Amino acid sequence: MSKTLCDGCEKRWAAVVVTRIENGIMTSRNLCQKCADAEGEGGRCYREPISPKVVPLSLFSEERASSSATPSEISIPDFIKVNDLADAMNVKLFRVLGVLISLKVFVTKESMLDFATAVTVGQRLGVKVKKLPG
Ligand SMILES: [Zn+2]
Repeated sequence: MSKTLCDGCEKRWAAVVVTRIENGIMTSRNLCQKCADAEGEGGRCYREPISPKVVPLSLFSEERASSSATPSEISIPDFIKVNDLADAMNVKLFRVLGVLISLKVFVTKESMLDFATAVTVGQRLGVKVKKLPG
């Protein structure tokens, strides 16, 4: 694994890649921990451990999506399929099944859940579940 000098101070080895988007332009810099801390906090930037390969842009956006895509609130009908509930909350199916198992509700992804159960699942996963109007 080859080492890269910090783009900031050019004295220490880079420890993180700091990616910033400013005015729609993405720039990546290899920084040592000190420089990253100095310029990272408060700025809108994305950090990750340094790797010898260039990080593909797709990975970058996927990481962002997974950290922010779970809605804080969803609306569902009176009954909803386990699979659809996972989709609506944008969480992996196994997480919903895991919560259900902990509630001693044993279902498959095709099973229908009633609203109260869906609300409980939502609470466990940090999503507020509301009833669809009508
Ligand atoms: Zn530095």
